[in-house]
This record gives sequence, C-alpha cells and structure tokens, in this order.
Amino acid sequence: MSLQDNIARILISPAEIQSRIETLAAEINAAYTDEDRPLLVCVLKGAFLFLADLTRFLDMRHEIDFMEVSSYGAGTRSSGVVRILLDLERNVEGRHVLIVEDIVDTGRTLSYMIRHLNARNPASIRICTLLSKPSRRQIDVRVDWIGFEVPDEFVVGYGLDYAEEYRNLPYIGVLRPEVYRD
Ligand code: 5GP
Repeated sequence: MSLQDNIARILISPAEIQSRIETLAAEINAAYTDEDRPLLVCVLKGAFLFLADLTRFLDMRHEIDFMEVSSYGAGTRSSGVVRILLDLERNVEGRHVLIVEDIVDTGRTLSYMIRHLNARNPASIRICTLLSKPSRRQIDVRVDWIGFEVPDEFVVGYGLDYAEEYRNLPYIGVLRPEVYRD
C-alpha cells in the first residue's frame, strides 16, 4: 500500500504550488530592499520545501535560518502547547525577520513565535505561510502573505506530514480520515 493510496484527493498540484510561490516571491522582493537583507526563518519541519523553493525565486539579498517548534503530538489536532526544539543560530536584534510557515491553523504556533522573536528586538517581523485554514483560527495573527486558503481538513504533502510521513508528496492532498481515526 503506497502513501498515495491514503490520499482522498489532491487539493493543490505541483504546478499550482510553483506558480503561486513565484507570485509570492515577486511580492516579497518588492517589499524589501537589499539594505533590509531580511532573515528568512523557516519553521521546521513542515516549511522546508516551501523555503527551498521560495528562496530560489527571491533576487533580493537575504539570509536563511531555521527554527523547529512542535505543537502537535502524533495526532492531527494542535495540543496548544508550543515547544521550541531548535532555536535560531543568527541574532535577530535589529534585523528584518520573515517567518516562513507551512500552515496557519489555530494561530497558536505563530503567535508564540512572534512573542518569542519580538523579545529579541527585531527591526520588523512579517509572516509568509504557504497554507491557511481561516475557519479554524483562534488567535488573530496578521499574516502578510498567504499562498492558499484550505478547508478544515487534514492536509499532507509538500513538506507537511502525518506522523512524520507524507512530506515527500509533491502536491498538497487531503489525508483520508480513516488513516488517523480508529
Ligand atoms: P496552529 O498552531 O496554527 O494551530 O498549528 C500550526 C501547525 O500545526 C502547523 O505548523 C502544522 O505543523 C500543524 N498543522 C495544522 N494543520 C495541519 C494540517 O492540516 N496538516 C498538517 N500536516 N499539519 C497541520
């Protein structure tokens, strides 16, 4: 049984993902100057493919760094408790920070990260997320760039996992509920 057999339907194709990222990158290029030299903070693990594609479409000067946070156990609902598993290597004081996220669901992870990074006095913090589930939002976080809005279903692929699998699928797909319900 392959991973694909557990996908109920494909929501966003690889071509749609690439074309949207190209558009987002053009907007991000226009929002910063070379002097700003923003620090792109990739939120691991889910945003690793998004960051990899986004950075190749950017032509302004920028740096990248990584943070790993966990708000989920092995299930499909956020626990609400955010833990930092890996912190930034770069100092963000006085820097323009662009958080690169895979998906904003309740908004808890992002609001925690913003508070955490704000305490280190960056020049600015902006947010770019590939996906957003607006119907699930509990905390009102201002997101500057959203790739796609998705319905309240559990999605996997293109970096997003279920129990650490499915990240390699080249598209965003809906996981069959019977895979995670007993
Ligand atoms: P929030 O704190 O906004 O509720 O959740 C954000 C995190 O939950 C995301 O970074 C992601 O890791 C995870 N998440 C939320 N919804 C989904 C989903 O539909 N699929 C996957 N694979 N992860 C999700």
